[in-house]
Amino acid sequence: MSRMKVLIADSINEKGISELEEVAEVVVNTTITPEELLDAIKDFDAIVVRSRTKVTREVIEAAPRLKIIARAGVGVDNVDVKAATDRGIMVINAPESTSITVAEHSIGLMLALARKIAIADRSVKEGKWEKNRFMGIELNGKTLGIIGMGRIGSQVVVRTKAFGMDIMVYDPYISKEAAEEMGVTVTDLETLLRESDIVTIHVPLTPETRHLISEDEFKLMKDTAFIVNCARGGIIDEDALYRALKDGEIAGAALDVFEEEPPEGSPLLELENVVLTPHIGASTSEAQRDAAIIVANEIKTVFQG
Ligand code: NAD
Repeated sequence: MSRMKVLIADSINEKGISELEEVAEVVVNTTITPEELLDAIKDFDAIVVRSRTKVTREVIEAAPRLKIIARAGVGVDNVDVKAATDRGIMVINAPESTSITVAEHSIGLMLALARKIAIADRSVKEGKWEKNRFMGIELNGKTLGIIGMGRIGSQVVVRTKAFGMDIMVYDPYISKEAAEEMGVTVTDLETLLRESDIVTIHVPLTPETRHLISEDEFKLMKDTAFIVNCARGGIIDEDALYRALKDGEIAGAALDVFEEEPPEGSPLLELENVVLTPHIGASTSEAQRDAAIIVANEIKTVFQG
């Protein structure tokens, strides 16, 4: 049997590439254009992508040998999963690879809000020394409301407990045992929003979670509360968030994800009590290394039968 061929179409960690080279001929072309991919894909048994390369129905239909589409990351938004399933092609990803990284980023954003780190940084760089302007709050003793206690939410629980936070969770799909094991109080969304000092979102974007946090929900929150979203844009209604921040219904927000990315022209960009990062929740070398190794091992397992 001829050697399997794998195309690495977006840059992934070297360790993932060397794992694959043990079982397959690996071609790395991380600048391949959509047109070039349409022609090249016919020769490959597997393709590995991150976010840049789109594996469309057209690409899939031009790939008679293709058996696996691997995304070295969490979602598979850039893969036409329906088209792959129609052709019996496996779509794999590495959802567990980035959980700690995203949890750490969420906590970083909580601290940035609580201690006004981003705005204080800007002020010092402008040559100012405004000590009185940046009075903060401690996380210790505050109530943290976690919406969604899956892989990332659970990592947030473990770490924020060490900060001395009281934790409330809203997740209708977790078992009583899982909640007990984590030592958290499970509650309804309304209670969580009313009682939390900080709310952090860790649910997927689904029809059910689109605009889960909108006008009515902001009205329930404390006017001193902060909200953090490192999950997906669209879970928070950004127009409602802007109004809630402007009207003082909540005290601040930190977002890594947006309804439109980048959030060009968003009025949120003008607010001082907002901390924004460019969808870098999963961007650590450790998470990217683990994602590459996980998908490489899965491809190896499939190839080795
Ligand atoms: P997960 O599937 O492990 O956990 C999601 C949790 O949400 C589950 O426990 C589920 O029961 C719960 N849930 C689902 N629908 C719900 C609802 N309507 N109300 C309340 N809870 C609900 O997912 P994960 O790996 O923890 O990822 C969570 C989110 O983080 C996803 O949206 C993912 O796309 C996002 N994410 C973002 C980045 C980033 O770069 N910022 C990176 C990785 C993941």
